[in-house]
Amino acid sequence: MAKITLSNLRHSYYPAPEKRDDYALKNIDLDWEDGGAYALLGPSGCGKTTLLNIISGLLTPSEGRILFDGKDVTDWTPGRRNIAQVFQFPVIYDTMTVYDNLAFPLRNRGVDPAHIDRRVQEIARLLEVENMLDRRASGLSPDNKQKLSMGRGLVRDDVNVVMFDEPLTVIDPHLKWKLRSKLKELHQRVKHTMIYVTHDQTEALTFADQVVVMDEGEIVQIGTPVDLFARPAHTFVGHFIGSPGMNVLPCELRNRGAFFQGSPVPLEGPVRADASGRAEIGIRPEFVTISDAGLDAVVVKVSDVGRHNVVQAMVGDTKLAAIIEGDVPHKGESVKLSFRQDQTRLYCDGWLATEI
Ligand code: ATP
Repeated sequence: MAKITLSNLRHSYYPAPEKRDDYALKNIDLDWEDGGAYALLGPSGCGKTTLLNIISGLLTPSEGRILFDGKDVTDWTPGRRNIAQVFQFPVIYDTMTVYDNLAFPLRNRGVDPAHIDRRVQEIARLLEVENMLDRRASGLSPDNKQKLSMGRGLVRDDVNVVMFDEPLTVIDPHLKWKLRSKLKELHQRVKHTMIYVTHDQTEALTFADQVVVMDEGEIVQIGTPVDLFARPAHTFVGHFIGSPGMNVLPCELRNRGAFFQGSPVPLEGPVRADASGRAEIGIRPEFVTISDAGLDAVVVKVSDVGRHNVVQAMVGDTKLAAIIEGDVPHKGESVKLSFRQDQTRLYCDGWLATEI
């Protein structure tokens, strides 16, 4: 296993890129620590696969270097980089048994048969396929096939990193949670560096110790799941993580204070001295309450989502969401809304612009 450093990476699929938007990866500087459980989270087209292919060596970046434990591997072939990859769809040999499928990556490298057997048994136990070892892979259910595919990625103990590219896409929703928690457990046991690529926040937040959030070819925040929820560094993170996501409300900045629909809004702390550009307030629905005093609002929708209600209301021409426990107003009712001050942030041009 190795620490993986991405230094000043940029990548364009155009032969002669000129402007910033010509780059699928804009400027990536990142260390993946040895043994970490990472998720790479972002919407379709943000550059996740491009980044993964650059780490695995399938793609050479237009600019920048890739280092494994400080050694420059940018020009190394995928084989030499010693990486295991698990894809969206199972990659297994249908005609082989489960045992032989798991043993294959080790036999291929001439590993001692006794060690192969120990390792296959161990991984099979962890994945709960030990009673299927003699079965042909062709007869397995789709989720067991994908488990086997994961097992093939995990069976080698000499890899620098195991990368999972949306591995639960083909799995039934009710089995997803099971495999997700299994993978987390596997990481704790095998201690490989793992990078899990997904556009699904639940998958990212349950698997990873550190989540790397990408948007439009840039890393917008790296943090624990709690960090990302508690203090989003960018409105994209606030909106992408959470259900519903953070309210992002256009506001005016006057004398270093924020005004929303003409009313002053107390912020978590002072506005950064260099704050400028498009100003927005970020407040999560969890911290918007209906109170006796506050912003005048009209309820436009109430959705019962089980544990609580999501109330959508208009303040002037802007819609926002509030998560309300207990009594809820009805559609059309006039209410007053207030924001919890220590959770109310200013963002300028998308980036966090308040200090604490
Ligand atoms: P998805 O989740 O849909 O796979 P992604 O986050 O992995 O998306 P990438 O596939 O890395 O994103 O794509 C990043 C950008 O690069 C997109 O704008 C995409 O259209 C572009 N792109 C990807 N592959 C190529 C290619 N071979 N040639 C040209 N442009 C490409």
